[in-house]
Amino acid sequence: MSTVSDLRITLDGSERVVPGGTTAGQALDADGRTVIAARVNGELRDLAGELRDGDVVEPVAIGSDDGRAIMRHSAAHVMAQAVQELFPEAKLGIGPPVENGFYYDFDVAEPFTPDDLKRIEKRMREIVKQGQLFARRPVSDDDARAELAGEPYKLELIGLKGAASHDDGADVEVGAGELTIYDNLDAKSGDLRWKDLCRGPHLPSTRVIPAFKLMRTGGAYWRGSEKNPQLQRIYGTAWESREKQDEYLRLLEEAEKRDHRRLGAELDLFSFPNEIGSGLAVFHPKGGVVRKVMEDYSRRRHEAGGYEFVNTPHITKGNLFEISGHLGWYKDDMFPPMEVDGGDYYLKPMNCPMHNLIFRARGRSYRELPLRLFEFGSVYRFEKSGVVHGLTRVRGMTQDDAHIYCTREQMVDELKGLLAFVLDLLRDYGLSEFFLELSTRDESEKFIGTDEDWAEATAALEEAAGASGLDLVPDPGGAAFYGPKISVQAKDAIGRTWQLSTIQVDFNQPKRFGLEYQAADGTRQQPVMIHRALFGSIERFFGVLLEHYAGAMPPWLAPVQVVGIPIGDTHVPHLERVADRLRERGVRVEVDASSDRMQKKIRNAQKQKIPYMLIAGDDDVEQDAVSFRYRSGEQKNGVPIGEAVEEIVKAVEARVQI
Ligand SMILES: [Zn+2]
Ligand SMILES: [Zn+2]
Repeated sequence: MSTVSDLRITLDGSERVVPGGTTAGQALDADGRTVIAARVNGELRDLAGELRDGDVVEPVAIGSDDGRAIMRHSAAHVMAQAVQELFPEAKLGIGPPVENGFYYDFDVAEPFTPDDLKRIEKRMREIVKQGQLFARRPVSDDDARAELAGEPYKLELIGLKGAASHDDGADVEVGAGELTIYDNLDAKSGDLRWKDLCRGPHLPSTRVIPAFKLMRTGGAYWRGSEKNPQLQRIYGTAWESREKQDEYLRLLEEAEKRDHRRLGAELDLFSFPNEIGSGLAVFHPKGGVVRKVMEDYSRRRHEAGGYEFVNTPHITKGNLFEISGHLGWYKDDMFPPMEVDGGDYYLKPMNCPMHNLIFRARGRSYRELPLRLFEFGSVYRFEKSGVVHGLTRVRGMTQDDAHIYCTREQMVDELKGLLAFVLDLLRDYGLSEFFLELSTRDESEKFIGTDEDWAEATAALEEAAGASGLDLVPDPGGAAFYGPKISVQAKDAIGRTWQLSTIQVDFNQPKRFGLEYQAADGTRQQPVMIHRALFGSIERFFGVLLEHYAGAMPPWLAPVQVVGIPIGDTHVPHLERVADRLRERGVRVEVDASSDRMQKKIRNAQKQKIPYMLIAGDDDVEQDAVSFRYRSGEQKNGVPIGEAVEEIVKAVEARVQI
């Protein structure tokens, strides 16, 4: 961080804020990265901005989060310029940076074709090469209206000044302060090439966009409302280096191969029938058996972990959610009520209120605490149709939900034990890289519970996190109004982060439900309540595992664990006998007695990602043996049947990854 007096230099004929060392026409930060903008007194600004003595200037380099966003947003400008040069009748919507890239919306008569995208991308490369300058120009509202008379959407944004919302992206263009237009100027002649209403900041020059690619198009309603015209959105990606972009494109390709929606259909695991509705999955037999294995194992672990099993209905009178407060703060996420017997009934979005009623069903003593109530509870949430996504964002799901009621003194130990339990279970499912996020309260917002409550619960969560040895990322202001929480983030096989388990302390519900227990000294006390779901929901966790394993589930979770493949029809009875011995040991096994040729059967088993193929021919029948063909393609011939059965059973029991 430096003050401006050291840093004023002249570039391209104008005075610029260039912190750090400079070379001709290029500014580099201490790490040798190109500086493309600056934070002046905390506010993001163009490099071309004027400075006053005493201004505090921090360089913004291209690879930083801010730098990427500015570079991507500038790429959106270049795209819009290219589009208007090629399609002069196109009207401009907005063009913000998004995760990994940018988009711009256009009002055009026809949707863009893949060929159009190629032409636009080519034109963009020319603009980038020309090194056009982004020049900021403040304008009065009237001048802006006159200059942009041909751009109806921009005119609408000018009218929004001061009220522009971040939700629909309008604040990219207009803020509360003065309006600005950015002119794209020819670097040599200074001639105007294009312009756009925008708050900025932008790159100094189009040349500073190191790598970009247009990705896809789609329809998008103006300002996100179905009542408005539909525009055509073009998405692009842009990166600070070619290598970063290639890495990202490879990851996308890998993610595409692992898309659980695709795998779900290919492996016949689940589907979303139109007749049932968006975000509501049905599990087919092969998905159903995986789900059963997941549930059985989870039940066993919960039983061993001191949980008690409860069961509650899917619908309830509205009154319950009035007591819990959900109708006050969660109503938008709930399905609308149905009227029954003159009253409103709701599908439950959460199980907690019902568990509270179980706690309250009779007097409780401190001797019963901690009381851990567990349920595979099905809940329904009214996710917007636009955000529903495969199994990872659904409208109906089953949570592996538990509520723990304990004394304040028990809270730290309970949270420590809980976090260890969570991580242990997730590791059994083959996830191994985790970090934690601690969501604490925003001091300025309304919350339930005293300062001491929050401090104590936050300290307890911190202590539990510390004991886990994992990295803890603070999330200040991220807590719900009713208590702090820890969420467990897991990295999958290709490095993506998934939020899985949450452990949430709650000061609100015990109070609203008047929960209490009799303490050792005879007084009535309010218990601490902890919400926790380890998978999150079975559906979501199923989807995450499917992507993590790219469909090749470890033997213990695979829907079909073993398939017997006869070389000829005469070897079928031999494999049936092997299959029976495996079934006796609880192994899920099939024998492929179809009329397909052996090579086809092997290919089918590979496509189904079955962990073990047992192949048998004359030699195997003679020696009472089988030949293994593993998922890796490796082969092991002439394995005595007893040994083969033991190898498979052991691998399943040990939950090995292969
Ligand atoms: Zn802009
Ligand atoms: Zn809960």
